[in-house]
Amino acid sequence: MTEDHLKEKGGQGPAYQALARRYRPRFFRDFVGLDHVTHTLQNAIRQGRVGHAYLFCGPRGIGKTSMVRVFATALNCEKGPAEEPCGECDSCVRIHRGDDIDVIEIDGASHTGVDNVRELRSNAIYAPARSRYKIYVIDEVHMLSKPAFNALLKTLEEPPEHVKFLFATTEPQKVLETIQSRCQRFDFPRISARDIAEMLKRVCESEKIEASDKVLGYIARNVRGGMRDALSILDQVIAYCGNKVEEEAVYGVMGSVPEETLRQMGSFIAEGDVKSALQATDALFNAGKDPGEILDAFSNYLRDLLVLETCGADGGLLVTTAEADDAMRAQAARIPANALLYMLQILAETHGKLKFIQNQQVLLEVATVRLAQWEEFESFDEVLSVLSQGGTPHGKAPGTGGKEPPKAAATQTLPPQQAATEKKFDFAQSSAAETWNKAVDALFKKRGFLAAAVAQGQLLAFEGEQVVLGYAPEARFSMEQLQDPGKRKEAETALAEILGHGVTLKLQPLEAGPEAAPTPGKKDRTKRGRTASHMVKRALELFDGRIVD
Ligand SMILES: [Zn+2]
Repeated sequence: MTEDHLKEKGGQGPAYQALARRYRPRFFRDFVGLDHVTHTLQNAIRQGRVGHAYLFCGPRGIGKTSMVRVFATALNCEKGPAEEPCGECDSCVRIHRGDDIDVIEIDGASHTGVDNVRELRSNAIYAPARSRYKIYVIDEVHMLSKPAFNALLKTLEEPPEHVKFLFATTEPQKVLETIQSRCQRFDFPRISARDIAEMLKRVCESEKIEASDKVLGYIARNVRGGMRDALSILDQVIAYCGNKVEEEAVYGVMGSVPEETLRQMGSFIAEGDVKSALQATDALFNAGKDPGEILDAFSNYLRDLLVLETCGADGGLLVTTAEADDAMRAQAARIPANALLYMLQILAETHGKLKFIQNQQVLLEVATVRLAQWEEFESFDEVLSVLSQGGTPHGKAPGTGGKEPPKAAATQTLPPQQAATEKKFDFAQSSAAETWNKAVDALFKKRGFLAAAVAQGQLLAFEGEQVVLGYAPEARFSMEQLQDPGKRKEAETALAEILGHGVTLKLQPLEAGPEAAPTPGKKDRTKRGRTASHMVKRALELFDGRIVD
């Protein structure tokens, strides 16, 4: 790819143009990490088999809207339809500028009324003004109201020959099935950190910006696959420190916690050094870091330790660093996986409480103390096995516990007697929520790592083989783990063995808000299913622990 292809020509006068805009793709070949989409679209054009309607799905900032534009230019290019638009003819230039008369862009978020779609319907029958096709682009199409959807459906059922529909959405599950079935659907993947870092490097070279691979890698790993966010962050960093990118500026702009600080924190926690851990947390808070960001950073770091411990360092799975060093490996070896899982739940729970609490510093400190005292956790498996039988764990006070080496506790199996009582639970005779809770408890014994991800979901429905789990925003990491088909299959198989019938897991993101937040005081807890915070709370009650509320 050359600079010319990357850079938008004929900018908007002397005013500074954001990098994300200047480096917006103009050709199919400019897209990074979206080969399966570009190849399929180009094949369709080459073979003259372009469909009437396309639906581009995926998170924000990964190139859906750019793909819509490039596809539209390729279809209407005066030298086309071509596998690559020429980029120079009137049509290409206008579409790219966003003021072509035959490419009608509707923002689903602001045009939810049925009238707009009726207008679209009545206009669609007229031939395009000057181009080959009349192209309707509806961004955030899921926001359309139901009557608007239905009106749209009429046009989609019998589209005029000269009309193409290009839809984009961040929430495909909200797009009516009847619309989806009439579209060719493309799911845009998050772009890999390596591809994003590569792109950032190219941009820096062409902009004559000096930036180390380390900082570019850091940005790339922390934008959740969003190229646009990565370029915006780079923009801000450059605005702050000019042509030489400083590491500190990157952490400042991203509001994130420096890698070294996280490693230090990791060693304080591993060593159970409560005082130093508290001081480190307070220093971050006093430096003005957002408490949510601090918790996220800790979570990501502990998650990396868990990855190191369970999967080894290969495979580019780490998010807080490009490569684990000896300190990280030592920490991963020191803290057992069960304790890390428990810590992650503490952090998720704390995150969920942040918005309800005035004194966020205290909340952070409580979480920090609990993390650093991990050796005093009761063995997680043990707590659960006793809880699942309705009993209480034999009295081990938090202050005096932890004599048992955690490694041994983690691999401990149930004594035969306990195992026998466990068998007596009759899955067929109990309510769905009860059955599910028991099944998750049992899963913890078979597959702790997976069970933690399953337990983070709230049980929304359990009918026959189908189990629907809802995930609050702070539990999205768990949901993403289970979205991996291999992991989900593993969980389904293990659950099927426990329940004695097939299980299909459906995962559903929950909106942020009071519904998804813990609702203490609600009497029937089983109704909202087993949540991680619920388990931690139960465990805490037994230890006479307190959650600052
Ligand atoms: Zn052209």
